This record gives sequence, structure tokens and C-alpha cells, in this order.
Amino acid sequence: MMPTTPRTAADADACFAGTYAEARKQFLTEATAAGLALQHHAHPLTGAQGEPLAMDVARHGPMTVERLLIVSSACHGVEGHCGSGVQVAALRDPSFLSSARDNRVAVLFIHALNPHGFSHSRRVTHENVDLNRNFQRFDQPLPANHGYAELHDLLLPDHWPPDAANQAAVSGWVAEHGLPRYQAAVSQGQHTHADGLFFGGTAPTWSNQTLRSVLREHGQGARHVAWIDLHTGLGPCGVGERIWAGMNNPQAIARARQWWDNGGATPITSIYDGSSTSALLTGLMWSAIHDECPDAAYTGMALEYGTVPITSVIDALRADHWLHRARQQGRAVGADLAAQIAQSMRDAFYVATTDWHEQVVAQGLQGLHQAIQGLKISA
Ligand SMILES: [Zn+2]
Repeated sequence: MMPTTPRTAADADACFAGTYAEARKQFLTEATAAGLALQHHAHPLTGAQGEPLAMDVARHGPMTVERLLIVSSACHGVEGHCGSGVQVAALRDPSFLSSARDNRVAVLFIHALNPHGFSHSRRVTHENVDLNRNFQRFDQPLPANHGYAELHDLLLPDHWPPDAANQAAVSGWVAEHGLPRYQAAVSQGQHTHADGLFFGGTAPTWSNQTLRSVLREHGQGARHVAWIDLHTGLGPCGVGERIWAGMNNPQAIARARQWWDNGGATPITSIYDGSSTSALLTGLMWSAIHDECPDAAYTGMALEYGTVPITSVIDALRADHWLHRARQQGRAVGADLAAQIAQSMRDAFYVATTDWHEQVVAQGLQGLHQAIQGLKISA
């Protein structure tokens, strides 16, 4: 395996950006410098500073190559500070791009799957939808989440910050049912409360439809697709959990372990057997591969970097959704409180320290190099 750590701490820090606009500029500059072909899918709305928004796609390698590695950022908007940093680090790693070329692997960088959330420091899309719960069959009955229905009013009280009675009621629910059930009820996705948390939507979002068209175009000639989708917000700070992102198929999961688990040092966890810090989820984004590239073999993971404790993450999301609902209802919210809530979202999903940047880049580049080696031997 090639050495995959950035040379200096400053190299790692310089891959990350504090705003969507800066991250986008950095990504496009590096992709252009590396000679990649670029496509821009313009988003219908504008960003937090009035800037244009887009899902940007950069491809390394010709369309005829049969092995395709996808690396994507900002499925969950604000998590893009991290994902964009890993993408920029990969574009600045000449050994990664040359290894891809030499092993006949094309690399597709998808920057900002959900650019609106990235710019506005939200995890959801402009439709208030969790993109990674939005890939359902909407012509069929959607999964029920009774735990969420029980919690919705407690999670989003009339006033923010929540008063003592609300805090006691939430703590009481957690004490009665346990933290894992609280996490699962809140985060597994729901299709009944459009202003709520982890809403999976009732129709495909802009990001869902745009991603599908990208996969159709770039995956059409692929016989094997690998995908690393970059996330944050679960697990110990700075540790990238490698979560299997595909169907419950033992053969494919075994292949992912062979590529990525480093002899068990970085286990491939699964939502199907309880080994992941993530709850069991449905409507996941990877399912689009099977719809849009039905003839390709598939191996994928979510690389999920820890930030702060889960209760802090959920509280930041509660505040964010409270603010969104207040604005939709036309209620006055102080500028200080709004800014504080946006900052708490960034802090929950992005740790802007040199240590964290270095850990994120090292693990991200290692996973990407390993995917090339895996694709090389598998197809
Ligand atoms: Zn995420």
C-alpha cells in the first residue's frame, strides 16, 4: 500500500474550508489543475450568502473504462466540510490519480450532493428531506416509525432553547427506552412529519433526481462500481467508521472486508447485524446504483467520521429544525439565536482542528487507495 498521509499538518488543514463557497472554489480549482472533466448541475436556489449552488462532478479517466470509483460529499449538506476536504486531498495526491490511471480505474468525484444544506449549515435538503432516507419506492407504502411519532412534539417544542419541563420529558423518554432506541427512533427516518427530523420525504428530491442522472451517464459502461460516501456525526471523534453501504449480501460484504478492513483493524460494520453505530435504515442512497447501473457489480461504504456525542448531535438537529419551522411559520427569530444555531450545526458535524483534519485525510486517502487495489483484482 502507498503511504497515504499528508506530508504536513498544514497540508491537511489546507484541504478544508469554512464555507460552501470556499470549498466549491477549492474543489473546482484542484480538479481543473489535475485536468479532470467538469460538469455543473445548477441547483434552483441560492446559498446562505446569495451564491450559486451546484452539484459539481469531476471525472478522471475515460468513459470507456469499466471500473469506476465514486467519491461523494455532502449527502448531508453540512457534513460536506469534511467530505470536500477529503476530495480536495485526493485531487492533491498525485499517487492516487496515477494509481487510478495505471490500474484502469476511472474516478468520479461528486462534490456537494446536497449543496443547499452545505451552504446553509443544514443536514437536510431545501425540501427539508434527509437525502439518505429519500431513495424509497414512493409508489409503495412507506415504512412507519412509531417511535418518532411519539417523540416529534418533544423534539420540537414551541420555544428554543427548550425549557426545564421539555428537557425532563426528553430525559424521561431516554431513561425509559434507552439511548439506542432514542437514536433509532429519531434517526431511522420517517415519512409522516414534513417539518420534522430525518424526514425521508414523499417524493424524490432534486438531489435524488440529479444524482440518478449522473449515475446513469457515468456508470453506463461500468462493470464494477465502488463508492465511498463521506459522512460525519456518529462515533468517536476523528475515527472513520467504515459502514457497509449496500444490500445485505454476504458475498459483497466479504469483498468490502477484503478491501477495507485492514485485517480487522478498521472493521467493516453493518446496519444489518447491529455492528454499526448507525441504526437500521431504509431509503438509502446506494440503492440508486442498482436502479441506474443494474449490470454493474457494486462495493461501497459510508465513511462516517465521529465528531461530538450523539446527544449533542441530536440537540443541534432539534435546534436547526425548530429554526426552520419558525421561519416557515413567519415567526420572528433573533439574529443572534439563528447564528448560534447555525454554528452549533457546524460544530456538530465538522471539527475544525488540525488533529481531526489529519485523521480524516489519512483514513479517507487510505480507503480510496484501497478501493483502487480492490477494483483492480475484482473485475
Ligand atoms: Zn451523514
